[in-house]
Amino acid sequence: MQEYWAQPPLVIASGRGGWLTDTEGREYLDGNASIWTNVHGHNDPDLNAALQRQLGKVAHATMLGLAHEPGAMLAAELADLAPEGLGRVFFSDNGAGAVEIALKMSFQYWQLAGKPEKRGAIGLAGGYHGDTFGTMSVGDSGFFHERFRAWGFPADHFPAPVCREWAGVVQTADTSASLEALEALLIEKADRIACLILEPSVQGAAGMRLQPPGFVGAVAALCRKHEVHLILDEVFVAFGRLGSMLVCTEEGVTPDFLCLAKGLTGGYLPLAATLAREEIFEAFLGTYESRRAFFHGHTFTGNPLAAAVALENIRKLRLLIADGTLAARATCFGRLLAAAFADHPHVGELRQRGLTAAIDLVPADGGIYPVAARAGWQVCMKAREHGLLLRPLGDSLLIVPPLCLSETELGELVSRTLRAINDILPTFQYHAQRS
Ligand SMILES: *Cc1c(COP(=O)(O)O)cnc(C)c1O
Repeated sequence: MQEYWAQPPLVIASGRGGWLTDTEGREYLDGNASIWTNVHGHNDPDLNAALQRQLGKVAHATMLGLAHEPGAMLAAELADLAPEGLGRVFFSDNGAGAVEIALKMSFQYWQLAGKPEKRGAIGLAGGYHGDTFGTMSVGDSGFFHERFRAWGFPADHFPAPVCREWAGVVQTADTSASLEALEALLIEKADRIACLILEPSVQGAAGMRLQPPGFVGAVAALCRKHEVHLILDEVFVAFGRLGSMLVCTEEGVTPDFLCLAKGLTGGYLPLAATLAREEIFEAFLGTYESRRAFFHGHTFTGNPLAAAVALENIRKLRLLIADGTLAARATCFGRLLAAAFADHPHVGELRQRGLTAAIDLVPADGGIYPVAARAGWQVCMKAREHGLLLRPLGDSLLIVPPLCLSETELGELVSRTLRAINDILPTFQYHAQRS
């Protein structure tokens, strides 16, 4: 906060496509897709029109006991996109909420099924599922969440697989240690575990940590074998980010719960959804006095404006995927990144899949930068001068463009990132801490 306070403020006034303009009239490429949400760009005429059409009808009506058209239509659309059998949709308004709902549903399900002792949870090392207490408990986000541990519930974590990939080529991959540890954990205590939660394919907030193809399927098989619910948190990876609408369908996996948010409205409005399997839905049915109902509600759950925009977002995204446009952009992005950074002296590791990438910044003579040097942050501040907005994660640069960027704009994104790195790092002054 002190650093933020010391900086001249950057105030966004407007946006168009992949660009944002500040109150001084300066233009920036939105290199983090307005925190990983933007799909078709800012100020998209089709999304704007969908929003305005709904605005002319009703801006908000509760889903607590009532229904509305865009909400019902979006639920049907999501059920259609999801794997067979994953057809029940519970709306909320942010990713952490969508995950909390899945966790609570799993917890309650096992009580309803007569197995209340199944109430533990398993997460993947480095996992991030939001900043509320339940999501912090199953997550593993280092100092982001560490100080709040004592107020969370206990959860077990298993090691993440190893995978390096860019430009569609897997450089190294090893899932054995991860899957062996998971199996051991399940053998030991599956009878006390309600659910396992996983960000499939890419762990975004961990710094774009990748999983090799097949890993999600292997985890799903272990969950099924040991009767543990599988919650897939696709809040970051769904809606085209990795090239497909949903990662679970791509991986051939039907989870028990699927959590969606971020790209659901194309980055326009807060909306989230938790999908559940039919059998889980049915366990909650009963008379009023049986108290089997799921008591959970958010005031703006399934907001109609957001739902209307989500429907238009999905309609447009289907076209981008079907005609190969999105795949071509991801290929282009991977090639550009590999050319600029695969052998760069200040890049320790490059990870890229779909339209998401991470670049780990390192000193040319080896080791890592001391935390206090703020190397990643300095590079991002320099990028602003080159008209590019990026967010660092420590000394990793996370590059998450809106999916609408043209190949020329992707070229600009990569070349401006490269310029910022080359401006700062070759002459970067820091006090090395070497052991
Ligand atoms: C961003 C994110 C969340 C939290 O979503 P919010 O809308 O910020 O609460 C949960 N899971 C993953 C994988 C995310 O990337």
